[in-house]
Amino acid sequence: MSDLFLPPFLDRRASELHMESTPLAAIAKKFGTPCYAYSSSAITEAYEEFRRAFSTRPALICYAVKANGNLSILRLLSRLGAGFDIVSAGELHRVLRAGGLASRIVFSGVGKSCDDMAYALKAGVRCFNVESEPELRRLSDIAQSLGVTAPVSLRVNPDVDPKTHPYIATGLKESKFGIAHDGALDLYLEAARLPGLKVTGIDCHIGSQITELSPFLSALDRILLLVERLKNQGIQLGHLDLGGGLGIRYRHEQPISLAEYAREICSRLDHFDGELILEPGRRLVGNSGVLLTRVEYIKRTPGRSFAIVDAAMNDLVRPALYDAWHEILPVCSPATTGPSELFDVVGPVCETGDILGRDRTLALAQGDLLCILSAGAYAASMGSNYNARPRPPEVLVEGNETRLIRRRETLDELSDLEWPID
Ligand SMILES: *Cc1c(COP(=O)(O)O)cnc(C)c1O
Repeated sequence: MSDLFLPPFLDRRASELHMESTPLAAIAKKFGTPCYAYSSSAITEAYEEFRRAFSTRPALICYAVKANGNLSILRLLSRLGAGFDIVSAGELHRVLRAGGLASRIVFSGVGKSCDDMAYALKAGVRCFNVESEPELRRLSDIAQSLGVTAPVSLRVNPDVDPKTHPYIATGLKESKFGIAHDGALDLYLEAARLPGLKVTGIDCHIGSQITELSPFLSALDRILLLVERLKNQGIQLGHLDLGGGLGIRYRHEQPISLAEYAREICSRLDHFDGELILEPGRRLVGNSGVLLTRVEYIKRTPGRSFAIVDAAMNDLVRPALYDAWHEILPVCSPATTGPSELFDVVGPVCETGDILGRDRTLALAQGDLLCILSAGAYAASMGSNYNARPRPPEVLVEGNETRLIRRRETLDELSDLEWPID
């Protein structure tokens, strides 16, 4: 595999990086930096790839909103036919505001509050992915008090190792997520007895940024065992939700082929009549986005050289949080005539961990524009205002057109919800 990876819909023309047919430098000029830019075609293509791969059977692709919840991205995916996987009332509100259909929403998460449940029941979501016995009881009570029936599936923990970063492995026995495989049958029987519930499916989600097929297939095999046992107990499931977790290429990773993933999954589902649900997040949007940032200063210390840029860990926390790698490229190349050297690309935030890229070989000068790749998922959505930094704007690129889909926060907005005491 070649060393430098350029995601789809990004390429260098006449020494300048373009997203679709738009020069990234033009986006920086128009909207300022730091700034997120997403390729509409990249998102559409990624969704269509799923749809094609699973066209042979009933399947619903529920985009995991937490990867990137921008209303325009939700609208784009909703128009393509996607459903949504949500983990909070806030995400439900976003999907509804974007025009998404409640009947295509599955509600995941270990800590659903009473208010979350009531809101989702009134909206009419397709299914609650329930993760514990007390949650099951609470959901039944609330549904009853509202005079409705809650559609449920249990999130079962297949106890397989997804071979990913420990912070994003969610399907192991010791994880806070899901219900132990061994206890799932009893809990299903209880769910079937509870008056406010209707058992409709089964669910699992084993982790994120997974680049091997085998953990998915082991998980599915374990789930299918349960499906069979449930059938013997008279519980017939309408859907099987295999969660998300498909990894993408950031650097040297070799992502799973979607066609192969689909083929292997579908071949195991020959005897399952229900609908297949998937909850991809990163794979749909991760490589659609970049974060544009400008070099404020070059600072050379006796031990290291730093490129201090105007984006920071509050904008993109993955390197600080997971030690994640994001490729960093000059937008115009060669940016300067000087020699390449080793830089730590860091932000202005007052934390030693405020690093966007360590030990990058770059030729840089003050004022240069940089592009941080693979910043479409778990990037803007994990952004914060730490150090009282306004969150950056987000721009959607369609061919040679750009649309502002979130404007930059103002300094006033950073303290608008507060007031000084008398
Ligand atoms: C985060 C999450 C997803 C999406 O994971 P990706 O790795 O982005 O595909 C899907 N389902 C659940 C329950 C999640 O928590």
